[in-house]
Amino acid sequence: MPHFVDPSPAGVCIFCRIVQGEIPSAKVYEDALTIAFMDLGQVNPGHVLVATKRHAANIFEITDEESAAVMQTARKVALAAKIAFEPAGLTLLQANGAEGGQTVAHFHLHVVPRHADDGVSFSWPRKEPGGAVLEGYALQLRNAMLSESVPVAA
Ligand code: AMP
Ligand code: ZN
Repeated sequence: MPHFVDPSPAGVCIFCRIVQGEIPSAKVYEDALTIAFMDLGQVNPGHVLVATKRHAANIFEITDEESAAVMQTARKVALAAKIAFEPAGLTLLQANGAEGGQTVAHFHLHVVPRHADDGVSFSWPRKEPGGAVLEGYALQLRNAMLSESVPVAA
């Protein structure tokens, strides 16, 4: 579970200060929209965070362009990690809100090389409510996608 929470606003949060070079980080990559640096915690060797350069608290605040850029950078990092650390697997993790497991309120994606019996676990409580309930949930989401706040397909 998280050991600390940084809900600081734009410009002063930990990751904004890393982007601005005000606090040190072990940088892996950067481009116009994203930055990748080593996570202090290193769940496994090669654990990298890919963050937006612009302060956006979470997935609800990033643009389509930023979301595509973050995934492209994550893929670059994953391919590099595959060469450098030879993991048996690799997990991408992205948390939103304290209840979602987010501790730093500046959008970021974890790239975590994985190995057998590496001690990383994630509780995944399956409910299996059945097809009729799934159809109901899908209908709720299809209707919600008509909302102005959800981008239409390019
Ligand atoms: P999350 O819990 O998904 O919000 O992830 C936040 C991550 O930021 C944690 O894994 C921390 O180890 C990491 N972290 C916090 N401060 C720093 C920092 N100054 N440099 C690198 N990683 C950090
Ligand atoms: Zn920030």
